Amino acid sequence: MGAEKPAVEFRDIDIAYGKFVAVRDFSLSIRKGSFVTLLGPSGCGKTTILRSIAGLVDISGGQIMIDGRRVDDVPIYKRNIGLVFQSYALFPHKTVFDNVAFGLKYRNVPKPEIARKVGQALDMVRLPGSEKKLPSQLSGGQQQRIALARAIVFEPQVLLLDEPLSALDANMREEMRVEIKKIQKATGITAIFVTHDQEEALSMSDRIVVMNAGSVEQIGTPEEVYERPATAFVADFLGKANMLAGMVSKTGGQTAVTLAAGQTVNVTSPRPLAQGSKVIVVVRPQKLSVGAVAGANRLSGRVVSASYLGGSAIYEIDIGGGTNIRANAPINGRVVREGEAIEVGFDPGGCVLLDESGRRI
Ligand code: ATP
Repeated sequence: MGAEKPAVEFRDIDIAYGKFVAVRDFSLSIRKGSFVTLLGPSGCGKTTILRSIAGLVDISGGQIMIDGRRVDDVPIYKRNIGLVFQSYALFPHKTVFDNVAFGLKYRNVPKPEIARKVGQALDMVRLPGSEKKLPSQLSGGQQQRIALARAIVFEPQVLLLDEPLSALDANMREEMRVEIKKIQKATGITAIFVTHDQEEALSMSDRIVVMNAGSVEQIGTPEEVYERPATAFVADFLGKANMLAGMVSKTGGQTAVTLAAGQTVNVTSPRPLAQGSKVIVVVRPQKLSVGAVAGANRLSGRVVSASYLGGSAIYEIDIGGGTNIRANAPINGRVVREGEAIEVGFDPGGCVLLDESGRRI
């Protein structure tokens, strides 16, 4: 069986604004029908990459392929790409119908077909019958649905979504996450989504590309990037993991690491480590138990702060040597108060080990 051509492929692309290199050596292959998210802090180059697919910025090196065809020389108007922006960018004086029909008229689709397709797209975004309304008569969430309808109505090869949810309030954001995902699945369209919001990325994506300062830190499924961060940056950016510096103090069988805080923990290492090597033990706040401690590793400390969240609480715990760790643990009986002594536990397999330079071992 021949391998299917990727929907979009970046081959070692560089993008510069004048002398400033915003994206360096970016490579990524996106499978047809998948939902891929570019995730990273502000300024890391996510939008720049998205815009390069649409032809809105020029690449200074490398190649971009859509369906196996080089597109760097194809002008914008010939690229078959749907775009949704953070600001809905609807034409304010045009009706919903004319907004959604725009890409079809532009492509000289016959009138009856335009009416049919606009109707279908409005059904898809659950705003049937809104053809005659003006954008100003719609809520933010509804306007974003219209923007989505406008982007998918001409069945583009790729749908680009640039922080489409960030202008919406929290409730609407969650609803639209589910909505966008459903529409993407139902249409089978290949989607590339840009966000700096880790929850959005984790909940919506088939694959996540974590970016930092113009380069890729890690590409993987949501579970992979969350459970097995490749670098200290990824561990910190997704879920603010505890990063405990230490030194390997015992090898053979279990590996023991003596933390800078003075306490020793057992860890599962994927390969044998030399005694004395410096490592960082990465533990997610959710992997730590508090109170009725489970797990082979026990750390003792003192609660610095406790925030009650309903079913669980977030604790900041001083474990000595100037190290505070965060635990997000279910409440066992009662919330442990500030100043109280406490034990924190985790399993040797419940952590990831990074080397001194911050790369996963
Ligand atoms: P944000 O989430 O804030 O939009 P981003 O990750 O999408 O960030 P980009 O907008 O791609 O980042 O910008 C990447 C870098 O390129 C930033 O340092 C930005 O200042 C710079 N940059 C973006 N557009 C231009 C431009 N037109 N001219 C010069 N520099 C630019």
